[in-house]
Amino acid sequence: MFDAYSGYQQFSRLALYLLICLLLGLVVGDVVLVLCIGAFLILAWHYRQLMRLNYWLWKDRRLTPPQGSGSWEGVFNGIYRLQGKNRKRVSQLAALLGRFRQGAEALPDAAVVLDSGLNILWCNKLAQLMLGLVWPQDNGQRVDNLIRHPDFSAYLKKARFQEPLELPSPVSEKRMLEVRLMAYGDRQLLLIARDITRVRQLEGMRKEFVANVSHELKTPLTVLQGYLEMMESMADETDPNRKALVLMQQQTGRMQSMVEQLLVLSRIEDASEINLANVIDMNKMLAVLRTEAEALSRERYQITFDFDTKLHVHGNELQLRSACSNLISNAIRYTEPGGKVTICWKKVATGAMFSVTDTGIGIPPQHIARLTERFYRVDNARSRQTGGTGLGLAIVKHALNHHHSELVVMSEPGKGSTFSFVIPLHLLAQ
Ligand code: ADP
Repeated sequence: MFDAYSGYQQFSRLALYLLICLLLGLVVGDVVLVLCIGAFLILAWHYRQLMRLNYWLWKDRRLTPPQGSGSWEGVFNGIYRLQGKNRKRVSQLAALLGRFRQGAEALPDAAVVLDSGLNILWCNKLAQLMLGLVWPQDNGQRVDNLIRHPDFSAYLKKARFQEPLELPSPVSEKRMLEVRLMAYGDRQLLLIARDITRVRQLEGMRKEFVANVSHELKTPLTVLQGYLEMMESMADETDPNRKALVLMQQQTGRMQSMVEQLLVLSRIEDASEINLANVIDMNKMLAVLRTEAEALSRERYQITFDFDTKLHVHGNELQLRSACSNLISNAIRYTEPGGKVTICWKKVATGAMFSVTDTGIGIPPQHIARLTERFYRVDNARSRQTGGTGLGLAIVKHALNHHHSELVVMSEPGKGSTFSFVIPLHLLAQ
């Protein structure tokens, strides 16, 4: 096809035309005049072709180009071919976009595509139902102008999207959404919102159930414990039932402490927000911890206290004390008598650090990540023997969460462990 419009052919045609003009000029006897007229005619013809092309490109609605001739035929057909290719590419892109939209509509979550300025570029149907967006009216609107919640604005401002955000749905306060943002395409963001109302309801029911059962078990256990104590005191040394009574008393004691710990845990879990304006009197709290540690030790351990009693923090005294005393009691329970336990409360660059270091049995590294799970024990027999419930570190984790802190465990089997946490600078009291 292209050969037909090749430069060689065009040139030979032009040469033939000029030769005819030359011959005609010779016949007429005025070569210059005839050549000028020939050149003018050829210029006029090209100008006309140019006008036809202009008209077709800008005004004509027909897809097919005007019938061109000579070198213009190649130009017309070439433009037509390019247009055809473009149309095909556009329809392929439209089909791809259609498939993407169909896929996004089939998602079980709300999906919103945002540009780098957080303006809405597109959203699916679920986004309209769950987030109250209206499409296409909300196209180009800033997403935080439409989802008006202080937590959402703070989340966008912080721009730390690794963590999801939980938010009541703008459509219904009763529905809870989990919102995630992720980088997408060319500096765009994809917002995904999932309805987690049911999950939260089930979690609430589980917590309530555990709290209720623990509460209900308290009274029967106290009665049992009371009677067992009475029966044991009435049984004399030779009574064959005495050993059984002692064992029964020990086990009811274990059950009682487990119920107590479960209640503490559900109370701490329930208190979703604590009053961080409250300043804890660390002087008093550290004195209580010291008395507790000494009572547990019964002079069998070398306990060292390194307390900065002027270092006060904001938070909930009961929760923080519960976390600290669990760490202290663990250090004593998992250290052989004669061992050393060092308890510190001091200022560090990142805040206020509480640490308990022991020279006890230590923990193999594969267990460390799971220690704060409920009922997780490295050695079941040892935990039972020392009166452990498997809930202590779960309580510590939740209490620390409320104080924007995390438990750090360093341990070497056979050598000892250090359990520590840092209360961040913004919770330090001046
Ligand atoms: P428990 O009531 O069984 O002590 P915790 O939740 O307090 O439960 O602790 C979980 C497990 O972590 C314990 O069973 C124990 O194996 C291990 N652990 C906790 N503190 C220490 C420590 N100071 N030294 C060694 N092991 C520890």
